[in-house]
Amino acid sequence: MEKIASFTVDHLRLVPGVYVSRVDCVAGNPVTTFDLRMTKPNYEPVMNTAEIHTIEHLAATFLRNHKDFADRTIYFGPMGCRTGFYLILSGEYQSKDIIPLLTEMYRFMADFEGDVPGAAAKDCGNYLDMNLPMAKYLSRKYLDEVLLCITDEQLNYPA
Ligand SMILES: [Zn+2]
Repeated sequence: MEKIASFTVDHLRLVPGVYVSRVDCVAGNPVTTFDLRMTKPNYEPVMNTAEIHTIEHLAATFLRNHKDFADRTIYFGPMGCRTGFYLILSGEYQSKDIIPLLTEMYRFMADFEGDVPGAAAKDCGNYLDMNLPMAKYLSRKYLDEVLLCITDEQLNYPA
C-alpha cells in the first residue's frame, strides 16, 4: 500500500506549531485538517493519555459552542503518537488563519476551572482517565511558547 501523506512529513525536523495537514474535497466542499503539534516528535516526552483526554473534552466543548466556528467544526481529537491533535474544519484555510481561534481555545483551557465537561460515566467511555492540572499546564505551554509568538517555521511543514 502507498505511504499516506501524513507519514511523508519529516518528523525529525518538525517543531511544535500549527500546520495544514491536508485539504480534502468532500462532496464538492473543501475540508481542512490541521496538525496542532504540541510536542517535538521523537525528542521530548509525549503527552499522557489522561491530559490528552481532558484537552479533547475541553477543546471539543469550546469549538462546538463557538459563535463563529461551531458550524464549521467537523472533528477535534488526538494523534495516536500523542504529540498533538487534529482539528478538522469545513472550508479551506491556511494555518495562520486559525491562530486567533486557537489562542482563544488554548487560553480557555489553560484558565479552565471546575468540572471537565462530559467527564461522567454516562457521557464518556473512560471518565476517570482525566488530568485537568496537566491539561492546563500543557495548554499554557503551547499558548506561551507557540501560539503567542508563532514563526513561519511553526506554520509550514519542513520542506
Ligand atoms: Zn471522554
